[in-house]
Amino acid sequence: MTRLDTPCLDKQFIDGQWVVSRGERRLPVVNPFRETLIAEVTAGDPADVDAAVTAARRTLPAWRRLGGTRRAVYLDGFADALANRRDALIELSSTNNGKAMAEAAIDLDDAIACYRYYAGQARALDARQGESVAVAMEGVVARCYHDPVGVVGLITPWNFPLVTSAWKLAPALAAGCTVVLKPSEVTPLPEQVLADIAQDIDLPAGVLNLLHGDGEGIGAPISRHPGIDKVSFTGSNRVGEAVMRAASATTKGLSLELGGKSPILVMDDADPQQAADWVMAGIYFNSGQICSATSRLIVHEAIAEALYAALAERIDAIELGDPLSPTTDMGPLTSARQRDGVQRYLDIAAAEQLVAVRDARHRQLPEQGIFLAPTLYRDVPVTSRLWQEEIFGPVLCGRSVSSEEEAIELANDSDFGLAATVISGDSERAQRIGRELQAGSIWFNSEQLVLPETGWGGFKRSGIGRELGPWGLAAFLEVKHVIGPAA
Ligand code: NAD
Repeated sequence: MTRLDTPCLDKQFIDGQWVVSRGERRLPVVNPFRETLIAEVTAGDPADVDAAVTAARRTLPAWRRLGGTRRAVYLDGFADALANRRDALIELSSTNNGKAMAEAAIDLDDAIACYRYYAGQARALDARQGESVAVAMEGVVARCYHDPVGVVGLITPWNFPLVTSAWKLAPALAAGCTVVLKPSEVTPLPEQVLADIAQDIDLPAGVLNLLHGDGEGIGAPISRHPGIDKVSFTGSNRVGEAVMRAASATTKGLSLELGGKSPILVMDDADPQQAADWVMAGIYFNSGQICSATSRLIVHEAIAEALYAALAERIDAIELGDPLSPTTDMGPLTSARQRDGVQRYLDIAAAEQLVAVRDARHRQLPEQGIFLAPTLYRDVPVTSRLWQEEIFGPVLCGRSVSSEEEAIELANDSDFGLAATVISGDSERAQRIGRELQAGSIWFNSEQLVLPETGWGGFKRSGIGRELGPWGLAAFLEVKHVIGPAA
């Protein structure tokens, strides 16, 4: 790897200014296609968190009093500024994360829509303040207010740069919270722009503090900091549980968006060709590094053979390559660490002699880049770790069932419950089956439809709480009632 002219992200955005981190460790930031060092980033230091929390606490009262309507102006400002930088950000996200440009464009539009949506929610919040509550007791009046939770710590992963941060930052600012945001140290480049935008739009100093670093330098210090009122975390179950333990010491509020092992149910009345398109979109997008990837294919035996044939054809047609090339469908995995983690599951599959419809034997990988072949196993035993655990890579596991009841039971037989998809020739039937599934988002005859207006989050071990929609705003609000005698 070359170290010549490598930019060094050694500054933290604290109290409206870039200041050099107190941390001495530096971490490599890699282009996963070229496998070159594109930057170095500070690992951060607990002293950076102390300084950011001090700034966030100082500015909290004024930011809260500003009111939703005036805070909305800044949220629209973030949306406009992201839209103005669209092409550059798409390229930056593709370069740092490895996702194809078309996918990075979808991400950016999602983030922009999120800031716009919460600008609207911030305006609507003012009208909800002081609503009177109907009470049965005579001579008593009660009014309801929504106060910001306070200073919040936002911790995000690397798979959807600018998106996972938007889902937290936009509602937090709309609610009137002040923020300490920690992007992933794997993809720090796209999120860095949020601090530049904060300066450009004159966001009051201290409202957004952006700290680069890893878990040790910044993440864990945020989770245990007594000056932080709530942590909103998106990432793995292992780290999410550590955050939960650390947050318990000061009884912090907590929102957790964690892993998934989501099912896609293809019923006997589905068109196998159309179903194959949705199955593909649910697993190979972003090289399978999607928390809501529909990675367990549950197919009715009546159409299993036709579906597997249609999937094999489509997998063969996926073009792997340079994420910056417009003809690329699938880029590399985002890091060697992630590739190695997925490879360990492929090794287990080989040891268990799983039946591969498509795997590395069916394809020549590009000469450079952290690639893995898009892989599809069929008839995977439910006891296999590949069936039960989140792999977070381009690996789909299939099983056949002989009835709707069996499909529903198998779909719900998981520790996770983030999302699910149902495909059927009968839309009513697909929706009815969807109602039986234990997951936060159920798509019918579609795939990965994520909308700012609908909630996002998981049942079971997929997390605690909801993002997006009014629930995403509520996660950053405290409900307060003022009660007393009627005049
Ligand atoms: P990760 O848990 O390794 O890291 C997530 C974030 O936590 C990073 O910013 C990391 O630096 C930080 N961190 C690491 N150690 C920490 C600690 N001790 N205390 C506090 N913070 C710490 O996850 P990842 O590999 O970046 O992302 C992949 C995971 O994220 C997958 O499991 C995926 O399912 C999940 N994810 C979930 C959603 C969702 O909406 N449910 C969305 C995207 C990703």
